[in-house]
Amino acid sequence: MSHLDRLVEQGAVAGDAELGLLTTYRFGGPARYLAEPANREELDAVIAARADESVLVLGRGSNLVISDAGFDGLVIHLTGDFERVTVAGNTVEAGGAAWLPTLARQSVEAGRSGLEFYVGIPGSVGGAIRQNAGGHGSETREWLETVEIVSVDDGESLTLEPDDLDMSYRHTNLRPDQIVTEARFRTRPGDISQGRELIASIVRWRKEHQPPAMYNAGSVFRNPSGDSAGRIIDSLGLKGFSVGGVRVSEKHANFFVATSDATASDLHRLVARIAEIVADETGIHLQPEIQFVGEFG
Ligand SMILES: Cc1cc2nc3c(=O)[nH]c(=O)nc-3n(C[C@H](O)[C@H](O)[C@H](O)COP(=O)(O)OP(=O)(O)OC[C@H]3O[C@@H](n4cnc5c(N)ncnc54)[C@H](O)[C@@H]3O)c2cc1C
Repeated sequence: MSHLDRLVEQGAVAGDAELGLLTTYRFGGPARYLAEPANREELDAVIAARADESVLVLGRGSNLVISDAGFDGLVIHLTGDFERVTVAGNTVEAGGAAWLPTLARQSVEAGRSGLEFYVGIPGSVGGAIRQNAGGHGSETREWLETVEIVSVDDGESLTLEPDDLDMSYRHTNLRPDQIVTEARFRTRPGDISQGRELIASIVRWRKEHQPPAMYNAGSVFRNPSGDSAGRIIDSLGLKGFSVGGVRVSEKHANFFVATSDATASDLHRLVARIAEIVADETGIHLQPEIQFVGEFG
């Protein structure tokens, strides 16, 4: 019996665990193992028990798609202490699982400015750092001061700065075995009522221009240089185009929205079909921004 199976027996790790509800798309199969450590000690115990299982670090699942067959390995989903947000002077400290809209609102309420853009991004601090998430003219790289990383491969902890992470448009050099456990963001002094107004205007803009954070994972394709994937897809009249239970949103052509009985395979086929049509019609080869995890046909 493996160490992980022993943790399953003790109830510290779940076996054959559903993942769909931990993602914004809500579909996909189970994980062989699902660990939800609530503090560093529990995380270290999971890392020590991991052996040679493949690892997926799952944040809020707002940028990834789990295959219908699931993930044949260990999923690590940080919870508890890793969700905290603390404002200390100019710096906002947050655990790797902190919810970005909370980070935005808490820093505004503490009289800090800069992180408001996170109110529109329904992910975690770890996912935002991994993806260099951004929007409304800001991105993670500009505000990140330092980040604590733990490697699942060797248990080693590191403190890194943005320059170490090679951050660019939706890219860092973080490896899949590296977990963001904590981060510090620099902020500017801010006026609370102006901050609240900015937050409200971002929320309003999102409601008007994008579907809500349910049954989709935000932008499907990366924007090609100097253009927008949504504009290109829309220009080809593809809003409403569907495969199975997933269709190109009428509100934003780079968001693909699912029905509650859709499958990950429907989405995967739709993404391939739209990329093919765009390449045939325009010569542009769109690259997915969302990440597909596990086996796809
Ligand atoms: C409605 C909607 C709007 C969106 N708008 C935007 C936007 O404006 N800008 C934008 O950039 N994105 C946007 N997104 C996409 C998504 O919210 C971001 O990419 C977000 O940063 C992903 O965070 P997550 O915690 O959900 O990551 P997940 O989807 O769980 O994971 C994404 C990647 O990050 C890794 N990861 C997650 N947590 C950690 C961790 N603790 N340590 C190390 N790696 C980790 C995962 O392994 C995976 O590789 C949107 C999504 C939705 C649904």
